[in-house]
This record gives sequence, C-alpha cells and structure tokens, in this order.
Amino acid sequence: MSLEIAPILCLKGMMDNYAYVITDTQSGACAVVDASEAAPIEEYCDSRGLKPEFILVTHHHDDHVGGNAALKQKYGCKIVASAVDAVHLDDADITVHDGETFNLGQISATVIAVAGHTNGHILWYFEQDKALFTGDTLFNLSVGGLFEGTPWQMWQSLQKIKSLPDDVCFYPGHEYTRAGFAGLLRNPTPAAAEYRHILEQKMQKGEPPVGIPLGLEKKCNPYLKIDDENVFIRYFAGG
Ligand code: ZN
Ligand code: FE
Repeated sequence: MSLEIAPILCLKGMMDNYAYVITDTQSGACAVVDASEAAPIEEYCDSRGLKPEFILVTHHHDDHVGGNAALKQKYGCKIVASAVDAVHLDDADITVHDGETFNLGQISATVIAVAGHTNGHILWYFEQDKALFTGDTLFNLSVGGLFEGTPWQMWQSLQKIKSLPDDVCFYPGHEYTRAGFAGLLRNPTPAAAEYRHILEQKMQKGEPPVGIPLGLEKKCNPYLKIDDENVFIRYFAGG
C-alpha cells in the first residue's frame, strides 16, 4: 500500500466535513479530496512540506469545495470534478466521467458515478489501495440526502457501492457517526460488535472514525442492508 490518507476535520462544529490529504508515498505526489476549508488543509500540508497537485471533488456543494479557490491560488493545484457537477463550479480544470481512471503519481483511481445526493456526485475509488472516498453518498451507518436525484437513483448508486469488495475501506465526507451509533448499540450481531470495537480503538488512538471496511458497513448500515428495491425506496423517501 502506498497511498497515505490523512483525514482533516473542516468546518468543525458547523458542518463537520472531512477533507482528505492523500499522498502517493512512492512518488510524493499529493492531492486533496474535497477541499472543504482551506486553513486546516494548508496547515497540514505546510507542516509536512506537501504541495497538492490536484483537488478531487466528490460533488459541487459549498461545504465540499469551499477551500478550492484559496488552495488553487496557493499551490497551483488543478481541480478535478465530474463533468455533470462541474457546471456548478467556476474553476474546474479537469472533468471526469463514470468509469474513467485518474492518476496521482503511480496511483490510479477510478471514477464511479453515484447520482442521488447531487446529479453528478462521484466516488473516487483507489482499487489497488483499497480506499473509497464517498463524499455525501455514504457515511458511517448512514447515507446522504437527496438534493437533486431520486430514491431510485440512490438505490442504484448504493448497489454500486455494495458490489465493491468487503476489504475496501471508505472515507466519508462528514463526521456523522453519532447519527447511526445508537442503532449500532441496539444491534446484537457480531458485525455490530466489531464495528463498535473499531470505533473505540480509533477513539482511543485519537484518530477520526473513518476507514471502516465496506464489508462491515454492508452488515451494519441500515440503508445498505435493504435488499428489496421497493422497500428501500419507501424507507428512503420516509427517512
Ligand atoms: Zn453535499
Ligand atoms: Fe456535505
């Protein structure tokens, strides 16, 4: 594994977004996923001498792109967004489509389109490094709301996530773990116990609770557990 992932909590106490500074440790190439807020990202990068080359955008919402302009000015990084959501941004440099790959140093990511939260929401999937950046589509124990898409589109998008390998770890766009935690406490399965154990371990180490394996998420996230499309659509429309 040569992809290093540093979660940076942004808009703390307001939106509690996660930006991620990601580095290919072999080449030193660095990028930011969802530059929510410039200052904490700059602080992290500058203290380590990192100079991000790209900002990888999951979707166009302000709380995910608020730091783009300042970081672009400071580091000259290029903004990479889905062609669909790029129309909402004034400063996208590179647009990508479903299924395309994008290279950061020696590392390659695949773009997975997941309409629902926004029409052009994408996931950044680093298959070799088993990391998935899910923006506002998948959170710990929850999923994003529908701002632009339909419950059916969200269903399709979540099926794409469910089809990915269990050992892929995912990195959500917000710290929303608390929202699903009570459900986890009421869940008597071994998977729920393992999920809680991982959260506790990370808490003890002072690490943010991100990077949960998809296999556990599939077993514990109430939205991913639904296998019937009609049930999901009813449930989702009500939630
Ligand atoms: Zn959003
Ligand atoms: Fe958001």
